[in-house]
Amino acid sequence: MLPVMLKWRSIGRASTAPCTSSAHGQERPGKAAQKRQRILRMRSWQKRSGPAAKDCRIEAIISKSGPVKELKAGESGEVVLDRTVIYAESGGQVADTGAFYDNSGAQELAAVTGAFYPVAGLIAHRVVATETLRVGDRVAVVADAERRARIIRNHTGTHLVHAALRNILGIHVKQSGSLNAPDRLRFDFSHFAHVGAEELGDIEQQVNDEIRLNTQVETSVTSLEEALNSGALAFFGDKYPESNVRVVTIPDPRSPRGFYSKELCGGTHVERVGDIGVLKIVGEESVAAGVRRIEAVTGIGALEHYQRRAQTLRQLASQLNVGEDAVLAQVEKLSETVKQLEKDLEAQKRKGALGQLDELAARVQLIKGIKVIAEEVQNVDRDGLRQLVDSLRQKLGSGVVALGTPENGKVALIAGVTKDLTVKIHAGKLIGALAEKLGGKGGGRPDLAEAGGKDTAGLKRALQTVPSLIETWL
Ligand SMILES: [Zn+2]
Repeated sequence: MLPVMLKWRSIGRASTAPCTSSAHGQERPGKAAQKRQRILRMRSWQKRSGPAAKDCRIEAIISKSGPVKELKAGESGEVVLDRTVIYAESGGQVADTGAFYDNSGAQELAAVTGAFYPVAGLIAHRVVATETLRVGDRVAVVADAERRARIIRNHTGTHLVHAALRNILGIHVKQSGSLNAPDRLRFDFSHFAHVGAEELGDIEQQVNDEIRLNTQVETSVTSLEEALNSGALAFFGDKYPESNVRVVTIPDPRSPRGFYSKELCGGTHVERVGDIGVLKIVGEESVAAGVRRIEAVTGIGALEHYQRRAQTLRQLASQLNVGEDAVLAQVEKLSETVKQLEKDLEAQKRKGALGQLDELAARVQLIKGIKVIAEEVQNVDRDGLRQLVDSLRQKLGSGVVALGTPENGKVALIAGVTKDLTVKIHAGKLIGALAEKLGGKGGGRPDLAEAGGKDTAGLKRALQTVPSLIETWL
């Protein structure tokens, strides 16, 4: 970044005072090019038709290789003008996009994809040239109106959200970051807890009350001291000059202070708060310890949000085959049904497990006088397996039970030993030995132990080794 800044320093600074000459009323082009120019105007200049300025001088051009005298069509670079209407990214507000035209507004010369401050007070336009641009050329510059309008609605919305947060959560709320983009606004602030749905509802309500009040947004330039004394909020992450600070005020005659919001801010704003239309909070989350983030949409962005939600609701209603008002009740009903089905399934599994009891009990083997059951069972979960082991232990009175079942591509193993035999045969050791053969591990108490394994194909073979394992311990 530093080399770029040094390069910029070497070419001096341009005034950043925006020029507000109108985009409209330009002279008509000559007859020969009239038709083509009319089409071009309709397609580009008039479509953009945001803040515009004519006769801006190209002071410097920087390409990838450094300062250059010209930028050819198709090349991208950074351009400094003697003045501009393009807002460069700063203070959380994203940059404008737009275009350079010839002074008649008929011919596009470059697309402006963004702008930034390489050093304080100097704006560099990121451009892709559509015609050759030369240092010294005079161009008309225009910002994309729709994008700018979306951004400023969100920026003024951010100020409203900030004020509402302090009113509702408390004045400990301090801004720790913000983003004012065309599609949404984001406001990060210090607060110790999650902001609940009720508080969010209150914040949204208060902001929209303020929007409907439709007061005229005021900007003034004053000293830092005077601004702070008048109650203006400063963003503590920023350094401000002692004089010439800009204050943006949203008046409210109902407030004893005479305003709803007052902030130090260099960004662009709506003329009247009513221009925001509506503000809808769409998210609240934690971004760091003690820092929360609110995201919201405004104006046309809010309408798009509502339309997407309405579309989702329509699809849900259609899927559930009910009217939109009945969606919630239908989902609750379905949820109850699912719970009941899960219960029934559990009961079925238990029944299924116990149904295998007699069959398993019949496969008992006698190893040096000790009753041993070691079998693979199917269609039971871990709970069912546990119950089977318990029931078989009871049924045997005295003996060893080792059962295994394949479960979701893995193996579940449980071994139980009646208390009278635990001195000789340790269930934990038995299960450990089995699990090892199946690529797993496990252990437990002398009378009951569980394990998991991976080799489902080897389960039967591993269980067949149980009698010989027990034999070695007797
Ligand atoms: Zn601001």
